[in-house]
Amino acid sequence: MPTDIEIARSVTPLPITEVAKNAGVDVKHLIPYGFDKAKVDYSLLNEPTDHQAKLVLVTAINPTPAGEGKTTTTIGLADGLRRRGVKSAVALREPSLGPVFGVKGGAAGGGWAQVIPMEDINLHFTGDFHAIGAANNLLAAMLDNHIQQGNQLGIDVKRITWKRVVDMNDRQLRHVIDGIGGKAQGVPREDGFDITVASEVMAILCLSTSINDLKERLGEIVVGYSYAGEPVRARDLKAQGAMAALLKDALKPNLVQTLEGTPAFVHGGPFANIAHGCNSIMATRMAMRFGDVAITEAGFGADLGAEKFLDIKCRMTGIRPSAVVVVATARALKYNGGVAKADLNEENLEALKVGMPNLLRHVDNIQNVYGLPCVVAINRFPTDTEAELELIESECQKLGVNVKLFEVWAKGGEGALDLADEVMRLIEQPSELKFAYEDGADVADALEAVATKIYRADGVDFTPAAKRQLAELRENGFGNLPVCVAKTQYSFSDNAKALGAPEGFRITVRELKVSAGAHFVVALTGSVLTMPGLPKVPAAENIDVDNDGNITGLF
Ligand code: ADP
Ligand code: MG
Repeated sequence: MPTDIEIARSVTPLPITEVAKNAGVDVKHLIPYGFDKAKVDYSLLNEPTDHQAKLVLVTAINPTPAGEGKTTTTIGLADGLRRRGVKSAVALREPSLGPVFGVKGGAAGGGWAQVIPMEDINLHFTGDFHAIGAANNLLAAMLDNHIQQGNQLGIDVKRITWKRVVDMNDRQLRHVIDGIGGKAQGVPREDGFDITVASEVMAILCLSTSINDLKERLGEIVVGYSYAGEPVRARDLKAQGAMAALLKDALKPNLVQTLEGTPAFVHGGPFANIAHGCNSIMATRMAMRFGDVAITEAGFGADLGAEKFLDIKCRMTGIRPSAVVVVATARALKYNGGVAKADLNEENLEALKVGMPNLLRHVDNIQNVYGLPCVVAINRFPTDTEAELELIESECQKLGVNVKLFEVWAKGGEGALDLADEVMRLIEQPSELKFAYEDGADVADALEAVATKIYRADGVDFTPAAKRQLAELRENGFGNLPVCVAKTQYSFSDNAKALGAPEGFRITVRELKVSAGAHFVVALTGSVLTMPGLPKVPAAENIDVDNDGNITGLF
């Protein structure tokens, strides 16, 4: 099998104007970025329409470090639907340079189910993340400058919550001391960097519906607290206008195509472990505007990505998925059954059986907590054995769980015809989304609900610092926002080593932080970090470019 980038380059892309025309996007709304990429003007979303699309959410079991193929599935399923004559469209997140150079090597799908041009999408794309970083760091610069220039707002230097960001896995920047060097060099303080995809500006961009909405939300950002304990906002620093100006084009969804020419809106990229994990509202709405069936992905396992997609994004927008695809792999089931990463290519039916409860718990959550129709989609890897695949199918069938094997990585849309048929059946079933907690629930109750109903924890503990923060959030009127839990992606619990379907554990919240512009409260649990590090052998070591500009090593 050729590599992802070899496959991607072997297919001649359609001109993006053609992709747009096939999708029904009027050229007057298209802003081409070269031959095969474009931005789309979101003002078209305000034009009236009778079009009613169905939305399908792709999520997964708790993953291995390499990912379980949700993006690959999202793309391949949309291509499979096209082959069945269904007008489909895709909505995905943009890859972050952190994982591209870290463990994952890229996030534009894999094998014969990719979005192209994959090297551009994986590296800089249309510059959205740089714009987000610039807007974020402008606010940081204005904040520190305000303090240096006399600190009229009385900002408590020890209580600044706003961090600088960079789109890179760079653990060296997690904790820094800056502003050193003397009187003219700023005010010395403890500071730190997050990865861009964890930033509130990223979340805001993904949740905004217009420039005015964006600007309003940017103004609401809380950057820290004054000596009097009052929240200090971006608008107190008069930063929101310039930040919005930097984000003017980044706010427009990007249009690309799958290897089979299906339109794909790729926009925004919050991680699901340390942020809300979904592509932009506008990208999802575009896919629903130009497709009869739109397929979208939420990050990591269903305990993180799907929970936030449903409890945050769907709650805020009124968007409702008609069906959910839960991707499972024999590899991830074995991983959840305790097999080391290096041994995942070996058949191991015992471990696979031990890992099954992880899958079944996610399915139970989707069906019985959220009330949505769902199918388990087994993503076949070349190393899977027939016995392993049969075991997963029979274990699901024993419990009456819908299950389909598919092979889009090896075969493209052709490998997802059965899955496409099952999805078309499911989206016709009546369903009503129920949230894990009520609108306006107290933050502590919302956390308790997510922890007990979705993670199946016994409850939530707050560290003394988090307890103080909780009281303060309530005092400042932030106590009834939805919660965005930052948690390890490897476990239902906040301990990355508790694989499978752990029981008898509690969730520890160590920090609570308002994202007042995104309209949620972030709860940091366990030891999850908002700035990842690189692994011992970063993917970057194998990435190269030749003298003709051809990139290698992305996968
Ligand atoms: P996720 O979106 O769940 O993180 P991706 O779709 O990005 O996962 O896939 C993760 C990696 O696994 C990619 O490098 C992709 O090419 C590879 N992959 C996905 N499905 C298969 C498969 N069936 N066989 C082999 N490799 C696969
Ligand atoms: Mg993905």
